[in-house]
Amino acid sequence: MEEEIRNIFGQLKNLLLAEQEMRSEPPFIPSEVRSYLEGSVSAAHVHNHELAHPDSLEALRAFIGECTRCSLHKGRKHLVFGEGSPQARLVFVGEGPGREEDTAGRPFVGEAGRLLTRIIKAMGLTREEVYICNVVKCRPPGNRDPETDEIETCIPFLKQQLTIIRPEVVCTLGRVAGQGLLGANFRITLERGNWHSHENIPLMPTYHPAYLLRNPAAKRHVWEDVQKIMTFLGLEVKKND
Ligand code: SF4
Repeated sequence: MEEEIRNIFGQLKNLLLAEQEMRSEPPFIPSEVRSYLEGSVSAAHVHNHELAHPDSLEALRAFIGECTRCSLHKGRKHLVFGEGSPQARLVFVGEGPGREEDTAGRPFVGEAGRLLTRIIKAMGLTREEVYICNVVKCRPPGNRDPETDEIETCIPFLKQQLTIIRPEVVCTLGRVAGQGLLGANFRITLERGNWHSHENIPLMPTYHPAYLLRNPAAKRHVWEDVQKIMTFLGLEVKKND
C-alpha cells in the first residue's frame, strides 16, 4: 500500500514538473540572434553589432578596429570615427568623410567643415563642446553617396555613439544623415526645420553645409533651424544674426 502511494505521488510529481516545463517561458533569445538562427542575417552581423555594447567612445573605437565590415574600407586612408566632447549636449551627424576628412582622419575639416565650424561658433559654442560624426566612417569613392548596404553595416556604430553620449539634441546634416536616423521616407526639403526624435533624443534635421556652399540662399533656412536648437538648449539667440 505504502509502495502504491509512493508511486502515485511520484507520477503526480512528474506530471506537475512536465506541466510546469510546458508552461514556462521559452528562453530569451535576442531578436538578431533569433534572425541569425532562422538564417535571415549573417553570423558576422550578429557578431559585429548586436552582441557587443561598448559603453565608452574609446571602447567603441577599439571595438570597430581597422574595420573591413563593408566595402568602403578598400579606398580609405583613415577611418573617421568622430570627435568632440563625450558629454556633448549637441551632436552633429553628417553623411560620410570627404577627401580632406579621409586624409586627416577627422570629420568636417574641408570647406564644408569650415562652414560648419562657423555655424557652431554662431551658436555660441565651439567644436570641442559639441560632437561631430557621420553615418559612414569611411570615405565613399569619388564622394558618391554611401550605398544602402554600406549605411546598414556602419550605422549601428553611429547609434552606439549616440547611446553613449546621450546628447540633448541631434542635428542631422543633409538627406543621407536624416534618412539614416529617421528612415528612408525622410525628405530633407519637406521635413528639415521640424523636430523629430531618435531613441527619444530630440532630432533637428537641416541642410548639409556642402549644400549651402552650392546654394548660399539656403543658409537662411539653416540659421532658422539652428536657432530652434539654440532655443531648446537655452542658448542665447542674438537678434539680427
Ligand atoms: S564604413 Fe563603417 S562598416 Fe564600412 S568599413 Fe568603414 S567603419 Fe567599417
